[in-house]
Amino acid sequence: MSGAIVNLAYLVASILFIVGLKGLGHPRTAVRGNLIGAVGMLLAVLITVTDQHIVSYQVMLAGVLVGSAAGALLSEKTPMTGMPQMVALLNGFGGGASTLVAGAALVEELGRGSELSRQFTIATAASALIGAVTFWGSLVAFAKLQEMMSGNAVVFRGQHVLNAAVALACVGLGLMVVASPEATWNYWLLVAVSSVLGVLTTIPIGGADMPVVISLLNSYSGLAGAATGFVLNNNMLIIAGALVGASGIILCQVMCRAMNRSLSNVLFGGLGAASFEKMSEDTVYAGKVKASSPEEVSMLLENARRVIVVPGYGMAVSQAQHALEALARLLEDRGTEVLYAIHPVAGRMPGHMNVLLAEADVPYDRMKDLDESNPLFPQTDVVIVIGANDVVNPVARTDPKSPIAGMPIMDVDKARVVVVIKRSLSSGFAGIPNPLFAADNTVMLFADGRKAVNDLVFALKEAR
Ligand code: NDP
Repeated sequence: MSGAIVNLAYLVASILFIVGLKGLGHPRTAVRGNLIGAVGMLLAVLITVTDQHIVSYQVMLAGVLVGSAAGALLSEKTPMTGMPQMVALLNGFGGGASTLVAGAALVEELGRGSELSRQFTIATAASALIGAVTFWGSLVAFAKLQEMMSGNAVVFRGQHVLNAAVALACVGLGLMVVASPEATWNYWLLVAVSSVLGVLTTIPIGGADMPVVISLLNSYSGLAGAATGFVLNNNMLIIAGALVGASGIILCQVMCRAMNRSLSNVLFGGLGAASFEKMSEDTVYAGKVKASSPEEVSMLLENARRVIVVPGYGMAVSQAQHALEALARLLEDRGTEVLYAIHPVAGRMPGHMNVLLAEADVPYDRMKDLDESNPLFPQTDVVIVIGANDVVNPVARTDPKSPIAGMPIMDVDKARVVVVIKRSLSSGFAGIPNPLFAADNTVMLFADGRKAVNDLVFALKEAR
């Protein structure tokens, strides 16, 4: 295929990526944006495999079949609640693939006896470093989200010094790869030490800071891809990698702002977590928690003029969004205003709640963000907190040492009555008790989220 056609196809694919990304900026256009981006990727893949005579078409086809089968199986087996882990894993695969491709390109060029340019060697070292950090960092993030290891920060004495030493070793090895690329063991040593760096830099990040690290790893996977694009001299990969890198870092900034954190505080602030002393659950809850029933809560709702629903991870687990929308319609028929207040880090991935509520056809103008919601709570009769915990935990405002200190929360405690729907008093992702559950104006409705909302709908209909 002629170079001009390939470049034209890459240009079209790049434009599709950019238009697709723009579409993702608003819920109304997100599905179309996703589709446009996917078409761009299909075009890029087709052009690349038909143009690059890397291996035989049979081998390529076998790769496509195995990869597609693995992808289809993963997405079939992964429940909606497992999507965040899956996204973390896919970020990691992107980084791992970049590292392996750059390594293979190095070995191949050396085998051919080619003169290696500076661009090639620098990009190869960058792919090794960023790709391996992304792969191992993402595996740690996966393990934390999958609860295969504690979601809390893992901290120890001398951690910053160790991390700095390992980072310096990576830079040194990177320079060695650039200076003597023919010694391929330098490359694989760089991959090994960068892998250690990936683990070490991700384990101290925990609790409520995880959304930042996930968006950061997403950005790294793009940067690793862009670096590999320079290794292969492939414009498409450079553009796609740069887009992922840039959008990941913007998302990271949005998450930092949502958490009221600076990036450096998230990355290097882990040591503070060691000095946090968790209050015992008895101190927080004993004798103060009021359990309620669907009938009692429905009476509160019957008389409410404004109800705000604050969803969290538990809404995703119980898939309560459709039941919630049915409840909202019932209340609206009675003249009650119903709004949804969405915290930017609620759930386990950016936009998690918005996606689920959109799936249940909740109108966008009824979804309010943190800044819009907080001024409304003091004038709200009933707040229904469903499966949310950390994002409504007042400890963020009161205890500067807590893992969620400084994170802006939904000030639901300012409403007249707060109904919390969850199965028990167990803690959220940050692993700390929540005094909201013991507040004077809070009642607990202990049940699975969807079941509780269906019971409320039933009780409201019965009361008519
Ligand atoms: P939390 O994780 O703080 O709390 C979720 C609550 O849901 C739990 O306390 C649990 O209580 C309850 N729950 C679980 N299953 C059900 C069910 N079937 N029915 C009803 N309730 C249920 O969630 P939040 O959304 O408040 O906060 C998100 C947390 O996750 C933050 O700390 C955030 O930083 C972190 N995080 C967010 C990411 C993002 O990108 N959004 C990524 C990674 C982490 P019980 O077991 O008693 O039912």
